[in-house]
Amino acid sequence: MIKKRLLWQLFPLYLIIVVVSMVVMLGYYSGSLREMYLGTVAQGLEARANLLIPEVTAFLDSPERIAELSKILKEMGIKSRTRITVILPNGEVAADSDQDPAKMENHAARPEVITALSGNTGIITRYSNTLDVRMMYGAVPLLVEGKTRAVIRTAVPISSFDAILDAFFNRMVIGACMIALAVSLISWWLLRRFLLPLEDIRNGVQRFANGDLTSRIYVHGSKEIVYLARLMNKMAMQLNERIDTVVRQRNELDAVFSSMTDGVIAVDSSERIISINRAAVRLLELEPDAVRGKLIHEAIRNADLQNFVRRVFNSAAGIDYEFRIYKNRQEQFFKIYGAILKDSQGQFIGAVVIITDITQSRKLEIVRRDFVANVSHELRTPIAAIKGASELLISGDIDNDKDKAEFLSIIDVQTERLSLIIDDLLALSRIEQEENKEEKDLSVMPIKDVIASAIHDCEVFATEKKILIKFTCDDNLTAKIQPRLLEQAVVNLIENAIKYSDAGSHVAVAASEQGKEVIVSVKDNGCGIPHEHLSRIFERFYRVDKSRSRKNGGTGLGLAIVKHIAHLHGGRVDVESKPNSGSTFYVTLQKS
Ligand code: ADP
Repeated sequence: MIKKRLLWQLFPLYLIIVVVSMVVMLGYYSGSLREMYLGTVAQGLEARANLLIPEVTAFLDSPERIAELSKILKEMGIKSRTRITVILPNGEVAADSDQDPAKMENHAARPEVITALSGNTGIITRYSNTLDVRMMYGAVPLLVEGKTRAVIRTAVPISSFDAILDAFFNRMVIGACMIALAVSLISWWLLRRFLLPLEDIRNGVQRFANGDLTSRIYVHGSKEIVYLARLMNKMAMQLNERIDTVVRQRNELDAVFSSMTDGVIAVDSSERIISINRAAVRLLELEPDAVRGKLIHEAIRNADLQNFVRRVFNSAAGIDYEFRIYKNRQEQFFKIYGAILKDSQGQFIGAVVIITDITQSRKLEIVRRDFVANVSHELRTPIAAIKGASELLISGDIDNDKDKAEFLSIIDVQTERLSLIIDDLLALSRIEQEENKEEKDLSVMPIKDVIASAIHDCEVFATEKKILIKFTCDDNLTAKIQPRLLEQAVVNLIENAIKYSDAGSHVAVAASEQGKEVIVSVKDNGCGIPHEHLSRIFERFYRVDKSRSRKNGGTGLGLAIVKHIAHLHGGRVDVESKPNSGSTFYVTLQKS
């Protein structure tokens, strides 16, 4: 149902009340006026009739003078503007001021005459056919010694009064209409004045409902309305403050939530996701908008996680679990911790799951394990060779000098190899220690001489293989370096370039500036490295071709040392290589 405005509900009511009061007032006053007038006229008629009693009595005693009576009545009637009739008890008209009594019919049946004959005053209003006007008749009995001898009837026309009453009534109606109009206009104005503050409250509340809680309702009007408006304003202010607090807290929580590196997923008691942070979306590779509000088994297709959430629901204390997934064929390890959520009354409302990516630490663990295994393996081979050779020598089974010399040479070569491995391991550990220092011993200086010195260190080896080393570098090129370590890194790269190139080829060493970085490159035309090994060659003891590396005297630690030296310089090492086309290693350094 469409609700009308309060103004349009109240105003018609006002109007009806005003009109009804006017009509009632008009009816009452016109009725009273008529009654008063007719009462006065009736009293006059009775009085006049009573006044005539002595006069008429005198004539009744002498019937011969009755004609004379009519004459006297006529005079009196003219003077008093009254029709006077004398009626005998049998209804016969004895005299009349206006008509010839002989021509008048018997009046015995007239109601006023009947009343008068019964001894009372009869007053009646009726239409006179004789005079063709509305008349009021008053009839009184004429008593002589207690006996009704005649009835004296007086009558006056009352049509003129009706006309006056009608005119009066018309004026009253016009007056009432004017009053009704004035009252309506005033009440309309008053109602509007009264309802305006209410309308302001309504508009204000509408603004609140539209979310504008900073606006205020204009406070005016009656005491109650002012009170209401003030209450509404206070309510909006408090609501605004509360919303601000809630929004601030939510934003803070969101900020904490989204800046967390751990993934957080909160689910309600029906396993529906109620909150999920950016890290969880990233770790599990989800679509943020597609998962919110979904059931966990719809949103996250991971049986481990789904089962874990179910287990969390059934556990009183927090539980944890580890699982792995494959992303782009790469193994990823996650540790998840889950606990149930309770509201302020301690009622179970869902669960929260925290996902931590432990891939890195897992991989480090694997690297460390592999490293120990590799070191043991690397050391075991030369030690076994030394042990075998020395046991043979000690046993005295070898009697010729040539064999003895050969076994001694094995011991010498393997000892040298052991020493190389241990040197490289020590170098690596020193570089790692240096790398972990807060303050690194780096200084900005020209790098041409440092690289030239590294080339010089490798020249004997290069000449042995008839390999030419070309070098290009700007004299003034500077970088933030530790010269001893940079030299070692370049030596390792050049030695590899020579080791894995055929005799007679050439190696190009260059250094150039690129923006805020300096790039040192070592390029060879050697055997190259197959693509699948490229990501692993910087790992310790990783070799593409183990036997070739060992034959060349490699320890498998050279590139790991280069990588750590580059990291220590705040840079990195990259490689581009194609089997049989050669390789280029780049060490990126900071200019300043
Ligand atoms: P190694 O002592 O065995 O040379 P490195 O750590 O220096 O150990 O290198 C790791 C592996 O990377 C080597 O065994 C080799 O297979 C490959 N490698 C390194 N440099 C080159 C290069 N310039 N050309 C081809 N392969 C290379």
